[in-house]
Amino acid sequence: MGIEAALTADSFLTTQLRRVVNWARRSSIWPMPFATACCGIELMATACSRYDVARFGAEAMRFSPRQADLLIVAGRVAIKTLPVLQRIYLQMAEPRWVISMGACASTGGVFDTYAVVQGVDQFIPVDVYIPGCPPRPEMLIEGIMAIQRIIDQEGMPPPGGKRAPLGIALQPSYVPKPQPVGLSVGS
Ligand code: SF4
Repeated sequence: MGIEAALTADSFLTTQLRRVVNWARRSSIWPMPFATACCGIELMATACSRYDVARFGAEAMRFSPRQADLLIVAGRVAIKTLPVLQRIYLQMAEPRWVISMGACASTGGVFDTYAVVQGVDQFIPVDVYIPGCPPRPEMLIEGIMAIQRIIDQEGMPPPGGKRAPLGIALQPSYVPKPQPVGLSVGS
């Protein structure tokens, strides 16, 4: 980390227990991917070398809910799938976090039909909403960082780990650019 270069081998540091515990917590988020559709591909890309979610300590994807504390819902959720999602959420470790990734998970997206859940937050608490169809991996990383910032700021986890969902909605980072003028096809 570089700090060892500035300190002698016999040096010591003092800090608060809260800071050490929260540093460890935010640096070891274990996600549980619930990827049902195309947003899942962007979720997978987040773990590849180009984006490397390991830089944020959140690369240990667990497929066992009891070993995970961050549920990432990526894609549309069918009514028939909903009980599975709820059971996974209830089996996860406390304190647990939920990211709703993409338009389908947050609102049903373009699938305004009887068979698709019109927003998973109607059935499980959601901490961070990520817009987009699909959101880019950078947006998912920003969502994870939003949770890390909250963990950094908060005190020790409450007894039992229960807490209120954050309800953070990330702002889209895309800025539309004007079309180049005077450009003709084939010139
Ligand atoms: S938001 Fe778009 S990319 Fe994501 S699951 Fe829905 S249709 Fe696919």
